[in-house]
Amino acid sequence: MLLCVPFKKTTTGLHRILTMDTTPHDFIRARIVRDLNDGTVKHEIITRFPPEPNGFLHIGHAKSICLNFGVADEFGGQTYLRFDDTNPLTESEGFVEAIKKDVNWLGYDWGDRLTFASDYFEQIYAFAEELVVRGCAFVCDLSAEELQATRGTLTTVGQNSPFRDRSIDENLTLLQKMKAGNFATGSRVLRAKIDMSSPNLNQRDPVLYRVIHAAHHRTGDQWCIYPMYDFTHCICDALEGITHSLCTLEFEDHRALYDWVLDNININFHPPQIEFSRLNLEHTITSKRVLRELVDQQFVNGWDDPRMPTLAGLRNRGVPPAAIRDFCRRVGVTKQENTIETELLDFCIRSDLEEKAPRCMVVRDPLLLEVTNFSGEDIRLTANWHPKLTEFGMRELVFGRKIYIDQTDFSEDPPPKYKRLVPGGIVRLRYAFIVRCDEVVKDDSGKIICLKVTYFPDSRSGNDTSGLKPKGVIQFVAENNALPIEIRDYEHLFLSKTPSSSTWQDSLNSNSVAVSNALVERTIYARSEQHWQFERMGYYFRSPGHDSEVKPVYHRTVSLSQRW
Ligand code: ATP
Ligand code: MG
Repeated sequence: MLLCVPFKKTTTGLHRILTMDTTPHDFIRARIVRDLNDGTVKHEIITRFPPEPNGFLHIGHAKSICLNFGVADEFGGQTYLRFDDTNPLTESEGFVEAIKKDVNWLGYDWGDRLTFASDYFEQIYAFAEELVVRGCAFVCDLSAEELQATRGTLTTVGQNSPFRDRSIDENLTLLQKMKAGNFATGSRVLRAKIDMSSPNLNQRDPVLYRVIHAAHHRTGDQWCIYPMYDFTHCICDALEGITHSLCTLEFEDHRALYDWVLDNININFHPPQIEFSRLNLEHTITSKRVLRELVDQQFVNGWDDPRMPTLAGLRNRGVPPAAIRDFCRRVGVTKQENTIETELLDFCIRSDLEEKAPRCMVVRDPLLLEVTNFSGEDIRLTANWHPKLTEFGMRELVFGRKIYIDQTDFSEDPPPKYKRLVPGGIVRLRYAFIVRCDEVVKDDSGKIICLKVTYFPDSRSGNDTSGLKPKGVIQFVAENNALPIEIRDYEHLFLSKTPSSSTWQDSLNSNSVAVSNALVERTIYARSEQHWQFERMGYYFRSPGHDSEVKPVYHRTVSLSQRW
């Protein structure tokens, strides 16, 4: 299906994405088709999404989730959700649960394929002994600093460890003692014996196991040695029969080690590692380390703060999972590093909410209008809940003697082309009547406290015989139909389009949230929807956590590109 959508921005990259064919085809899918056709893959396609449970998932992870689960779905395969839990110092059960919730929320189901690297600790350890017995690994007593100092650089070769030539028997005994808890944290490591002069630094006798005396959230005190990511990941992939191990480009230089490990142990499956570019989004940092700092230093209210690029934050802001999936599909999968414009995500959110969110009127900074020629019972008016979709039905509006409009819809000193209310001028109240401003009432300090207006009974919307031609239409809420709410409008957390993960503090936006009081049509409470389009303002999401509060809270999910 070819989607052609009007979009003001003329950036060619963005235009291309917005008018793209929505059927995904990329180099990874092409590779899978080839592997299936030429018999390289002999069973169903199996992928995995391998998060480390040391933080919440962010929008970047969504790309990887959509890719891994997406291709397996398309090819009738399976996907594991495998936690890469090899560092007990930073990981926790709380993060495991948060990640499961987010993957589910995004719309993916791992069924009974929920695994943990720690499920395989026995097997991984057995492979470590096997490498020792084959003379492919040795126990090294150098400290972390010494390891670093002897590793060499991109332009100089590394130095062999003085412990490199230990006998197989000695290495085996030392490894077993490491496992038995005879050595202090950090005192010894198991290293692969590859090549200290390799141009690829990852191949310079990399560490496979280290001693950490710390309780693990799943295995408790059972282990005091933990395998490194590079040793663990390839083995888990092979044990699970992963047909395509998809990861981001920073692992390209680790591929040689991935292959070396699988080539040097007795395992009968060798998945290919295929790299794609990370998702980078303007004004956003997708690094768990930085996100953790934002949380720890209390720049935000937790991992799920609506300003955070975490999936939990996006959920709390009201971003629908379908919009994120659409976004990931449009971003596509390539090997080119680039930064995606935030307009694309906003566009996907609006497209999704357009058909989900009923409309209503909201007055943010209420200014009282007293309709001096109105008396008696309030007038009941009707309006559509949605301008195009009749299935949303009709709502009732109230027009009475006291009306609120937004302060920005009145000006005593209007700028040129101002189409709203001015002293002596007329304006239409949306879905209702035309009013004329007769008098501006101020307090002693000169502050406007109310406008006295006249309404024209024969100007009723849809049945206007007044012959008046107001230039503008503004929204209103009648006092008898007004419900006070709190509105939270969010801006980017970072002012820079490309904030750096080392100097992010410099670009932090100190005005990333604006809280204001507003009045909304009371009748919205008769409906169950959480997503609303506040006319002229944007799409808003009713905070589920605040239902019992006196004043409900609405988060701005996204502003409106089109204004009426
Ligand atoms: P971070 O860099 O934020 O700490 P990470 O890569 O350490 O993230 P993991 O939990 O190891 O986080 O990531 C799980 C998977 O998600 C990995 O396969 C990783 O390649 C992928 N991933 C992480 N960040 C992105 C991103 N920005 N775009 C696409 N995929 C990503
Ligand atoms: Mg990682």
